[in-house]
Amino acid sequence: MLITCHNCETIFQIDKSKIAPKGQQVKCSVCAHVWTIFPDNEEETNTPKLNLNRNEDLYTEATTQKLQGPKQRQDILEKNKNKKSNFLVFLIWLFIICMVLVLAIFALINYRATVTAYYPKLSTFFELAGININYSSESLAIQNLQTDWKDDILRVRGDIFNNGSMRVHTLPVKITVIDPSGLLLSTHEIWPDSTTIDASEHVPFFAQITIDADEKAEIQVDFLSYKSK
Ligand SMILES: [Zn+2]
Repeated sequence: MLITCHNCETIFQIDKSKIAPKGQQVKCSVCAHVWTIFPDNEEETNTPKLNLNRNEDLYTEATTQKLQGPKQRQDILEKNKNKKSNFLVFLIWLFIICMVLVLAIFALINYRATVTAYYPKLSTFFELAGININYSSESLAIQNLQTDWKDDILRVRGDIFNNGSMRVHTLPVKITVIDPSGLLLSTHEIWPDSTTIDASEHVPFFAQITIDADEKAEIQVDFLSYKSK
């Protein structure tokens, strides 16, 4: 008689005499599914699709005689093989995508000052993630410093120059006025007009300070170190 595996639908031939009248457990040799068969629920023997081999000698194991033709069996093997290689390709892509993501996040965090100079909106992302951005004055220089002093008004103007090769954030400028004896007369902090400077570009700054000095005063202009909240 013919029995069909309930799981993978492989059809086997089985010697009816070997089935106990109260039922017999059989195990599928293809998918290892186990179920119980009874001698009376015989299936139709003339399944046209099957390439039945009537030579009984070919089938040695009574419970797992496989009757599917070599073509169908090859198809199943081929399908399983394809499934495996598809899964492997999926795993490789998953790995590549994960690596790219890790590198992107690594770059984003390590070069966050540069990244946010190009994409200011990303600052919000760092703020939300609680990651500080250290704005460095490494590639910045103060140039073309000019002062003019009339009555008690001191005007200071100059340029912030970016001598690096990447766009950077500008920094606030601190102007300190000292009299000849070293006495601190005034400190003033100003932000330049633009928040970023492209490579080899200038951004001007200007400050107007009221000071109370007699004849001479000395001014110092520095960058204030700046950290995002
Ligand atoms: Zn099966």
